Amino acid sequence: MKTELLAPAGDMARLKTAIIYGADAVYFGGKQFSLRSRASNFTLEDIREAVEFAHGYGRRVYVTVNIIPHNDDFNGLEEYLKKLEEFGVDAIICASQAILTLCKRVAPEMEVHISTQQTTINTRALSYWKDKNADRVVLGREVNLKQLEEIMGKTDVPIEVFIHGGMCANYSGRCTISNLLTNRDANRGGCAHSCRWDYHLWHDEELLDRDDYLLSLGSRDMCAAEYLEDILKLDVASLKIEGRMKTAFYIASIVRGYRYLIDCYQKQGYISDRQKEKGWEMLMLGTNREVFAGFYPGFDISKGQLYNFPTTASQNFVANVVSYDRDSSEAVIEVRNHFEKGDTLAVMNPYQEDVTFIVDKMTDTDGEEVAVANRPLQLLRIKVPVEVNEYTFVHLVKEQL
Ligand code: SF4
Repeated sequence: MKTELLAPAGDMARLKTAIIYGADAVYFGGKQFSLRSRASNFTLEDIREAVEFAHGYGRRVYVTVNIIPHNDDFNGLEEYLKKLEEFGVDAIICASQAILTLCKRVAPEMEVHISTQQTTINTRALSYWKDKNADRVVLGREVNLKQLEEIMGKTDVPIEVFIHGGMCANYSGRCTISNLLTNRDANRGGCAHSCRWDYHLWHDEELLDRDDYLLSLGSRDMCAAEYLEDILKLDVASLKIEGRMKTAFYIASIVRGYRYLIDCYQKQGYISDRQKEKGWEMLMLGTNREVFAGFYPGFDISKGQLYNFPTTASQNFVANVVSYDRDSSEAVIEVRNHFEKGDTLAVMNPYQEDVTFIVDKMTDTDGEEVAVANRPLQLLRIKVPVEVNEYTFVHLVKEQL
């Protein structure tokens, strides 16, 4: 089986980036019936455009309909599902038996994938979803590699697993810390990541523990690249990247890294150490939080804890490309982070290794030379070593940081 690489899309630009950089399928939420209410969700017109774009590249589109529904939430849902089917959406991702049943009845052409919100982590639960005609089940992140091997040996239900992205201190999303502390509902996509805050433990007047970030089990993000080969051997249907709120640069670098590693495996039947190293470098380019391998090594989640280390955003990404003039080999770039004349930058394109170059000259839109690029969104003209386009990103080479 050809395992699919599934990427998140917070908006149309990120959806196109994910596809151009090699995702086999993308997922996003519509304006209604979806978690991640703070992600820039898609209108019906956007969904139609997204399907056309993705299908033009032979890729698949999944729409999340993953609220935990109250009675009122069913208003308009039937019409919505029919519209998605009419547009050619390949699957919905849902967390509710009632939505699964409704979708099978009113929009039978669409697959139904069972969301990780259902915390499916055993074969009995998989048999249940098979009986209900689910087309795929997204396992809970809490399954380790040994358990995954056992599950894959005992089920024929197509399985999707998480490979990269944020972790939750509770069984995914089954938590009300954020609801209680901020009135932002984790089951409606509003999670404020309250488990990552700095807490002290008091009893009456006594300070019992001042281990900062007491609840930060979810503080490190998952990057399971070191287990990728083992997971691919099991013929899972899909590898999921989490992060509908992440930037286009993040999506591009994570999708490119996994695409490279999966392609190596699919061509050769293995991934060499050198290829693993290269893939890891690509993945770490866009990763701006500390990472660990999630639950794959076993249930010892202590390595995922990250006390006293509030993480900061990476400044690697310095510009995206607005236009390119082939005759002069010059690009107009839009500045996103600080860099200077003399710095070593790299051009990042899909399916290619980075090409580095030293900035020896850059000019502004009036043709004036600029020594320091430090104004976000400023347009600069710069010579680049390879052909670039609107999906190219420019980043600082790490040694220069
Ligand atoms: S607050 Fe933390 S544990 Fe709760 S849903 Fe959000 S990420 Fe998960």
